[in-house]
Amino acid sequence: MACLPPLSSFAAIVVAAGKGLRVGGDTPKQFRMWQGKPLIRHSVDALISAGADPLVVVIADDARAAAEGALAGIGGLQYVIGGATRQASVRNGLEALAVASPMNVLIHDAARPDLPRDVIARLLAALDTNPGAIPVLPVVDSLAVAGEGELMTDTAAREPLRRVQTPQAFRYPAILAAHRVWQGAGDAGDDAQVLKASSGSVALVHGDERLKKITFAEDLMHPSTSPAFRIGQGFDVHQLVTGEELWLCGVQVPHDKGLSGHSDADVALHAITDAVLGAVGEGDIGTHFPPSDPQWRGARSGQFLAHAVDLARAAGYAIANIDLTLICEAPKIGPHRPAMRAEVARLMGLDESAVSIKATTTERLGFTGRGEGIAAQAIVLVSLASEGTTT
Ligand code: MG
Repeated sequence: MACLPPLSSFAAIVVAAGKGLRVGGDTPKQFRMWQGKPLIRHSVDALISAGADPLVVVIADDARAAAEGALAGIGGLQYVIGGATRQASVRNGLEALAVASPMNVLIHDAARPDLPRDVIARLLAALDTNPGAIPVLPVVDSLAVAGEGELMTDTAAREPLRRVQTPQAFRYPAILAAHRVWQGAGDAGDDAQVLKASSGSVALVHGDERLKKITFAEDLMHPSTSPAFRIGQGFDVHQLVTGEELWLCGVQVPHDKGLSGHSDADVALHAITDAVLGAVGEGDIGTHFPPSDPQWRGARSGQFLAHAVDLARAAGYAIANIDLTLICEAPKIGPHRPAMRAEVARLMGLDESAVSIKATTTERLGFTGRGEGIAAQAIVLVSLASEGTTT
């Protein structure tokens, strides 16, 4: 996707101001993990990848920290506080774009994470001839009109009806003006309705089933496209120097040298941590615990691993097993293996049978063979947690 040229220029507004607590828990759903990253991050990544610039994220007034955490590392985002209604929130976002004054703007709900680039392209193309364009899908089920007592009173023709999705696309001056004069009673159902109220034509373009809204706990617990298993690998090296303690798998090992590094330099736990993060697509250990951050100086690496396991659980995955290989000439790993296995199992909340620790030399070849450093590589398998085991 990164190698595709950007689409014609557009700004974007991602609306994430809802409390979104219907899925349960204390965190609004847009900031909860889904498919390996926070829900909101999926659509923000898709919009930026398609060329959105600038991009405004509309959030509730108490959600700044949660939003910045969920979107950490993405540059150039502008955060705007939402209003009392969705319409007011979108208007705040539109007003924030007044200086940039883009030609076109896409307005998207954060709760629709899977945003195909094709849909964006169709919407932008439709703006050549209309001030508004929205993605829609046909109604395939037959329709019944419900009356009192949930009894059917009539049928309705489905042919002229469409299901409406987001993002909705507009020429910026037209949708800004329409929101400024919006007189509808209460909240607007969507932005197309606001534009239509000021007589702007709205083109209907073909949407995509993947754009469905994540609404219920079921969607977050069992996203239909989540693979049952995922795998990750990690690799790390630290230098052996005199005057340092040697920590491997959270166990202090007596040796005439120790590993140097910013934290306790536990090369084994770093490799396992990267493998867990890799399995759920959560970046690497440096993303979460930057060496440049003084708070991690001398830190015990067990907390890095515990955090990675928490992220995997939040994404709906349980650790199935890990397999670690330590590569060094000395010290001998065998005598320490039982303690190492027990400690890794404890840190990851696993049974020891799920933890394998192996060791090899490189026949005195290379830096490990010369005793200049220790290398470690790890593989982790994670499996979709069954209902009730997700924390
Ligand atoms: Mg390391």
